Amino acid sequence: MKLDRSEQIFAEARTLIPGGVNSPVRAYKSVGGTPVHVARGSGPLCWDVDGNEYVDLVLSYGPLILGHCDPRVVAAVEKTARTGFTFGAPTEGELVMARTLHERMPWVEMVRLVNSGTEATMSALRLARAFTGRDCIVKFNGNYHGHGDSFLVKAGSGALTHGAPDSPGVASALADLTLVAEYNDLASVERILAQRGREVACIIVEPVAGNVGLILPAPGFLAGLRKLCDAHGALLIFDEVMTGFRVARGGYTELCGVRPDLITLGKVIGGGLPIGAYGGRRDVMARISPSGDVYQAGTLSGNPLAVAAGLATLRATDEPGFYAELEAKSARIADGIAKAAAKHGVPCHVGRQGSMLCPYFSKEPVLTLDVAMASDRALWTRWFHAMKDRGVLLPPSPFEAWFVSIAHDDAAIERVARAADAAFAAVT
Ligand SMILES: *Cc1c(COP(=O)(O)O)cnc(C)c1O
Repeated sequence: MKLDRSEQIFAEARTLIPGGVNSPVRAYKSVGGTPVHVARGSGPLCWDVDGNEYVDLVLSYGPLILGHCDPRVVAAVEKTARTGFTFGAPTEGELVMARTLHERMPWVEMVRLVNSGTEATMSALRLARAFTGRDCIVKFNGNYHGHGDSFLVKAGSGALTHGAPDSPGVASALADLTLVAEYNDLASVERILAQRGREVACIIVEPVAGNVGLILPAPGFLAGLRKLCDAHGALLIFDEVMTGFRVARGGYTELCGVRPDLITLGKVIGGGLPIGAYGGRRDVMARISPSGDVYQAGTLSGNPLAVAAGLATLRATDEPGFYAELEAKSARIADGIAKAAAKHGVPCHVGRQGSMLCPYFSKEPVLTLDVAMASDRALWTRWFHAMKDRGVLLPPSPFEAWFVSIAHDDAAIERVARAADAAFAAVT
């Protein structure tokens, strides 16, 4: 496969952009080789600048639940673009978005729009600290909540594969306030709270851990966090930036039945344009400026184009049977990988929740970060390249979730299965 043009662009980009990329995982550091530079996408497919075609299972790491360039989203953005990009004044679309989020997640009594998932989690954290009058937070090893200082302690995603979970530049005084527990290990949370419960403002958790591949919450884990928060007077924050409206109409919160005090959103609610949101209990959210005293603002917050793209996307997911169809498609992709792996004798367990999935080359099912980290990364890396050479674009790390869209049709699903078979044959 030729990547000449990608190589040329990357070579110059590295002289002008740190690592040649605007977000670390895109640099292929953990898999090696030249990052595919994408020229365009359509439905389940994308094409790189050298003209190679791929079935896209990256999908911008989650936002594109309808695939690339869904005509309904394109039309909404085009229409809005003709009426103005941004005003610095409130628009009706923001109310429609707030109402839409509230209807789908009734426990989101009030919501504030921001520009990214990172901004959502940072703002929710400030709010939790203000509301409780406490400074510490509990987060989980391997959970990723964006690049806010307080969260860059044992973080997942790019921070995980680059082996630098504690970034220089994060003030140690701040990092000291971040207490790290083990995902799916309630006892590790209990230990922290027994010692420092009165200092803890909130527990923040990815209800499904999607930034270490895909690890499901153990039965009772999320309900246990809820109980512990109540017992210690801390707020529970579900970071649904990845899972929100991707795994179900009401996010993972609807599926698990546990109610957080605050929730953070992003990705799907912007349909591919930059957006984030945080919301939840009215008495907590009312503390946000200007109704309250906790400051948080944004020149482009509630941006009309992002809101239009997000609303068009959410509306499309309201079609009857949308999530059932997405579930069926995602199950077929997961089965295709599992069957191909079995045929070639590769131990493989596919973690999956709806249209988020991650095949681990592991002998045992992956329920903890340790087991994920013990999977066969060297084999995975060779297989990643073999998949790319066969026209399937995957996230360039064994610890990133793959995403399926409603646009992934039979042809795309079968191409993934065939590529997986051939790729396993090539690397085993
Ligand atoms: C992607 C992600 C974020 C960060 O969102 P950005 O828009 O990249 O800032 C936060 N939390 C989770 C769970 C995510 O998956």
